[in-house]
Amino acid sequence: MRAVKPHWRLEHLEIFITEEQIRQRVAELGAQISRDYEGQDLLLVAILKGSVVFLADLMRHITIPHSIDFMATSSYGAATESSGIVRILKDLDIPIIGRNVLIVEDIVDTGHTLSYLRRMLLSREPASLRVVTLLDKRSRREVDVPIDYVGFEVPNAFVIGYGLDYAEFYRNLPYIAIPKEGFFDEDEG
Ligand code: 5GP
Repeated sequence: MRAVKPHWRLEHLEIFITEEQIRQRVAELGAQISRDYEGQDLLLVAILKGSVVFLADLMRHITIPHSIDFMATSSYGAATESSGIVRILKDLDIPIIGRNVLIVEDIVDTGHTLSYLRRMLLSREPASLRVVTLLDKRSRREVDVPIDYVGFEVPNAFVIGYGLDYAEFYRNLPYIAIPKEGFFDEDEG
């Protein structure tokens, strides 16, 4: 089997949201969510894999009792373009009927993934269903989907880092970056 050679071209990245900006905003979101759900049950549902870094930081800024669960989805079609058809790769472990569910997303782009997930989760009759996303690429939206908490609005550019990947790499970057010219060039040899 041929080993995958990871791209690691940090010199071709423009840092768009710094580690410090993310830290501050995630703390604010955690505080706001803690206030909004004070005295209530709360279940965070994180969408794999992109939202794991955000979830790990966000939940440590939520100061009220809560539990977490995960779902994994994949959209058919090209790797970096959402086709609107969503497939569930991993479902929740626990029932959500009667619970206050907060979907934790990394980025909302066309909105198709979130729209599908909302409809599916609503059919399971949670007490409430809200959405927090770290990034909102609002200019790309194709379906109108309500978002309750937004970390940052981003322009129409492909972004990586802080959980977001390019070909499964770069999720560990502590900042959000935009690839510049040269980043996507094929490796030689
Ligand atoms: P949507 O269904 O809203 O078009 O797409 C949402 C999913 O597409 C995200 O959860 C993410 O996996 C992927 N995605 C959309 N935009 C970007 C981007 O700029 N960078 C990365 N790495 N993934 C993206």
